[in-house]
Amino acid sequence: MACLLIRNGTLIDGTGGQPLPHAAVLIEDKRIRAAGPADAVALPDADTVEIDVQGGFILPGFIDVHVHLMGEGYDLEKELTTPFSLNFYKAIGYMRRTVEAGVTSVRDAAGADLGVKQAVEQGLVPGPRVQISVTALSTTGGHGDGWLRSGVDITFPPYPGCPDGRCDGVEGVRKKVREVLRAGAEVIKVCTSGGVLSPTDHPDFTQFAPEELAVMVQEGAYHGGVKVMAHASGLQGIKNAVRAGVHSIEHGDNLDDETIELMLERGTYLVPTLLATVGVLEDAETAATMPEWSKPKMREVADIHRASMARAYKAGVRIAMGTDAGVSPHGTNLRELGLMCGIGMSPMEAIVAGTRVAAGCLGWEDRVGTVEPGKLADVVVCKRDPLADIRALEDVDNIPIVIKDGQIVRDRRGVAG
Ligand SMILES: [Zn+2]
Repeated sequence: MACLLIRNGTLIDGTGGQPLPHAAVLIEDKRIRAAGPADAVALPDADTVEIDVQGGFILPGFIDVHVHLMGEGYDLEKELTTPFSLNFYKAIGYMRRTVEAGVTSVRDAAGADLGVKQAVEQGLVPGPRVQISVTALSTTGGHGDGWLRSGVDITFPPYPGCPDGRCDGVEGVRKKVREVLRAGAEVIKVCTSGGVLSPTDHPDFTQFAPEELAVMVQEGAYHGGVKVMAHASGLQGIKNAVRAGVHSIEHGDNLDDETIELMLERGTYLVPTLLATVGVLEDAETAATMPEWSKPKMREVADIHRASMARAYKAGVRIAMGTDAGVSPHGTNLRELGLMCGIGMSPMEAIVAGTRVAAGCLGWEDRVGTVEPGKLADVVVCKRDPLADIRALEDVDNIPIVIKDGQIVRDRRGVAG
């Protein structure tokens, strides 16, 4: 197939500009060749395949900058009894659901290794384009340490593609970063504070010293400019991470004015993962499998999280869409857009946070994130107007078509519902 012409729709191109009715998008092989008013997009040649979107809305493929493709839900007993390799087969379904929901690129925030990324790249399994962090660097007893006080260690076992992320001290950290980069990490994931779903810490606890964080940032920079993303809930952990020069703060539950100022100065991205908080709370109400130790911590965190995000948004901090999918079910990623509107963003701002800004967060702004000539052809069609109702995007029944790299990966035209 040489060309694909998407026509008869309103274009919301991801730049934040005005929506364009009566638009068309011409795709040639993997890339967008033209996008704009239908009569200005060059007439295709005879073997062009036309897709009439029947007055629908044409958007860029969405980008979720914080997912965990290798897991879903939290069920300790299941985790302990699942055969190691079964996790990879399960991930195939998670990736399919993700891309079919309109999310064509993701940043995996620990769990997915180079083989998972390449399985998608080589077309063995359908899924989003993946940027991998491989494993999360954690202090002993930190957010990435699954050691229980019974003495049992439930940390996911390391294997050749995925080293154990626990490390301590400047030299220990340096070696670990190099191991993670050797394994193919395109971004370094670190936990600079405790978290909700870790057994021996608290979200407010500060993890890693500034000199340990400095070494991570430095080693990443040496390695072709690899950035650092920091799971950071507690204030001091956030501050340490921003001061060390990390690229993005994940969760950021607890921001004060000084930190917001610092993030603005440094251009640090904020990834709110509002869906994680909502998803975990929903789970806690319905599932008996959520560990007791995590419940009071969750409620505490949820209360301050939204207010903190709203302040950061008002101050103008760069916000990229990330969900922590895996904590909540894969394929529900675009619920985050509605939640972002809940902190004050307009539907258009939420869409841009999930496309152009998210692409910038991945360092992929030259490749994806907008429907513009030269970009990779990642396109999502929504039947209903997401600017009138942002939540239209969370229902996959409203998404008849998803295109990634110029290939149709979801085509539900003519399917009822
Ligand atoms: Zn996460």
